[in-house]
Amino acid sequence: MSAFLTGPNPAGEGRALWPIWSQRWLSPIQPPFLPQEAPRMSETITPIVPPTEDLFRADAYQTEADATVLAVTETATGAEILLDRTLFYPNGGGQPGDTGVIVSQAGAETRIVDTRKGAQPNTIVHLTEALPALSVGDKILMRIDWPRRHRLMRMHTCLHLLSSVIPAGVTGGQVNEDKGRLDFDIGELVLDREAIETQLNALISADHPVGQRWITDAELEANPSLVKTMSVQPPRGAGRVRLIDIPGVDLQPCGGTHVARTGEIGPVRIDKIESKGKRNRRVVLAFIDA
Ligand SMILES: [Zn+2]
Repeated sequence: MSAFLTGPNPAGEGRALWPIWSQRWLSPIQPPFLPQEAPRMSETITPIVPPTEDLFRADAYQTEADATVLAVTETATGAEILLDRTLFYPNGGGQPGDTGVIVSQAGAETRIVDTRKGAQPNTIVHLTEALPALSVGDKILMRIDWPRRHRLMRMHTCLHLLSSVIPAGVTGGQVNEDKGRLDFDIGELVLDREAIETQLNALISADHPVGQRWITDAELEANPSLVKTMSVQPPRGAGRVRLIDIPGVDLQPCGGTHVARTGEIGPVRIDKIESKGKRNRRVVLAFIDA
């Protein structure tokens, strides 16, 4: 059990959720003005957890990469692994967290069953169902479940196209491996299922490039029409926001993972259009090859 670095919350509250940081890891970032003697409990300093470098944002097609273990925290159902960087997308924005494996240098595989945003700002935690034989400082290999992620990327990108076909505000959405949905506040608009399906598949087969660019928070504030989602606002405060740009088709802030060209989505059908109240409709898409 010594490999698992769990300990009391330094704030003295709740259950044992906080990792005890190894001195080896903590010491390089300890400022020189810290007192030499141990602080009293009331003055205990919460460790500064560095942001997890999100490799999936720079290249959504990378399936394997090295990383270093920063913490392993035991949970009721297994463990949470914190790495210095990750390929695993954390659940958010309607896209599920990635699954896959982490491989130790000895070759032991730890199955990652979900990925979530961590309690500390800008951190990402990898969830396991069993206690892994990993220690702080271990160099590991990450490998995401690429067939699953690629289907999520295809469906996620398809929802961008759907939002461009239906001229209404988006109130919610969810992607999964076989299906995806967007909820629209349609007002007086009448949805023509067949026309939507035809337009959607035309945008897919036109094989439009899917790019990304960044704007400042101020530029986003000045262009509120860029934000189609009425319920989920893009994260601000980091100084810049990423826009997903399908030139001539769709432009909106998004933190998810996308395919490089719309042709990669493949043909889709409208599974159903559900009424969710007088003004609201849920449009559910499915892959035809599913
Ligand atoms: Zn997106």
